[in-house]
Amino acid sequence: MKAARYTQGESLCFEDVPLPDIDSDEMLIRVEATSICGTDTKIMRHGHRKLHDGQTITLGHEFVGRIEKLGARVSGFLEEMFVGVAPNIGCGTCDMCSRRLMNMCQTYSAFGVDRDGSHATHVRIPSAAIAQGNVIEIADSVTPLDATLAEPLSCVVNAAQATRVKESDQILIYGAGPMGLLHLMLANVLGASEVIMVDPNATRLELATKVGASTVLNPNLVSVPDWVSEFTQGRGLDVVMTAAPVAALQQEGLSLLAPFGRLCLFAGLPRGAEGVRLDTNAIHYKNLYVTGVTGGSPVDYRAAIELISSGKIPVSEIVSDVFPLSELELAYESATNGSAMKVAILEERLFEKSSARQSQASQNTTACQAAGRA
Ligand SMILES: [Zn+2]
Ligand SMILES: [Zn+2]
Repeated sequence: MKAARYTQGESLCFEDVPLPDIDSDEMLIRVEATSICGTDTKIMRHGHRKLHDGQTITLGHEFVGRIEKLGARVSGFLEEMFVGVAPNIGCGTCDMCSRRLMNMCQTYSAFGVDRDGSHATHVRIPSAAIAQGNVIEIADSVTPLDATLAEPLSCVVNAAQATRVKESDQILIYGAGPMGLLHLMLANVLGASEVIMVDPNATRLELATKVGASTVLNPNLVSVPDWVSEFTQGRGLDVVMTAAPVAALQQEGLSLLAPFGRLCLFAGLPRGAEGVRLDTNAIHYKNLYVTGVTGGSPVDYRAAIELISSGKIPVSEIVSDVFPLSELELAYESATNGSAMKVAILEERLFEKSSARQSQASQNTTACQAAGRA
């Protein structure tokens, strides 16, 4: 099968590898849709602390697909069932795992990080992932393209819970990339009264407006602190999320909060940049909450699937480019050259079907326009 293979200390290769074998307590998933995440491109450029030099893995942790082979000892699933997989597998015994917070397990393992992931035609699912509830059935009415975004959405669900986002909150989000936009969409579902998006990229701000931002600010054109102070009449905001890995935004974000305000440091900083000076007296005198999150648990993943299937969050609005699996190289090129918002990859057959539908739709539009002119 074709796969995007990364070797620690070396580079990314696209090569044919044998289809994985499974044991009687495992399953093999045929990938229907998978997406490329900042984590994949980060690993590709800088490696990962969980990999040792020379270790090779298939990248990709955002994916959904059909169960192609089911081990004889696995129960509760059927072959051809449509499923998504929460990517973090815990040790199964620690305190965090017993609370089902596999993303917080100190010895977690993850698809596309330290074990073979989804940028391939198939993924082998180990027994621990099945036992821990990482494999989640998805209704056939949900499209694979929407469903693959359950993973990034699960991280955003985790952040909203940690930051206690609630009705009537006034929220500011730094970064209108794919994650920032998911934060925006979820904040609206949770009843935020104001969602302000900050990004220097005009195209991203346009999309943010389209998917529900109340206000968009370009920090190169306006002073964000001045704007917030005027907008809130000096009170400050309830919540600030940083979905951009910039230390200065963490500092500025803290200064924008109202008493009892909550700051979520969603985006981690590059190694070496984490020693950030924060105004701790602001935290003290204004009773502020500062938190951060990493990844999402299988419970968050399930919540994300529910949000997507209910149609409340139009997740695929963040997808800018879709490729068939045979064009994996092009998909990576697009994800790394800065042109794409979010890149998704579809199984060959589904890609052909969806592009046939798209060209049919555009033919219909042309026919209608022609008829209108006649
Ligand atoms: Zn991801
Ligand atoms: Zn654990």
